[in-house]
Amino acid sequence: MATWQCVKNCGACCYLEPSERPDLGDYLTPEELTLYLGMVADDGWCVNYDRDTRECRVYDDRPAFCRVDATEFELRYGVEEADLNEFAIECCQEHINDIYGDRSLELIRFNQAVGVKAKRIRRSGNPNATHDPKTQHVVTFYDSRQIAFQPVDTLRPNYIQFKA
Ligand code: SF4
Ligand code: SF4
Repeated sequence: MATWQCVKNCGACCYLEPSERPDLGDYLTPEELTLYLGMVADDGWCVNYDRDTRECRVYDDRPAFCRVDATEFELRYGVEEADLNEFAIECCQEHINDIYGDRSLELIRFNQAVGVKAKRIRRSGNPNATHDPKTQHVVTFYDSRQIAFQPVDTLRPNYIQFKA
């Protein structure tokens, strides 16, 4: 069974642009909404988010609405503890997909870390991969920061593998 975890080098949920979260008022108190809106920088990212390290600068003191916690999720979203795992995985996938794309290294890495079946890097239309002109196997895959990765499994050269 897939098990939710937050992965490093992501940060997708720290993009807070309010126009993309029209239901904020449904799950934040008025005080929290004021706090939330005060955290949004001009580019839509949280002012506490470090774009270079992709980490929260105030992690230990981050607001309650930033925390994946059974009590928080039940209060805010009506999600029962038994459903928290699946709900949190879907939330992260949605955020990562919105920010980095459905073929991104970030989504592949998240899916692999939580135990969702590894996603094949497709030959056609993938702008982030270069291919061997003869075999069409992936030679290099670039993530959104243009960091290069290469397949480590010679038997499955169209798959990029990561250690969780
Ligand atoms: S979207 Fe999920 S995996 Fe990415 S930083 Fe947020 S909690 Fe972590
Ligand atoms: S306070 Fe930290 S965890 Fe919360 S949105 Fe900002 S950077 Fe992300």
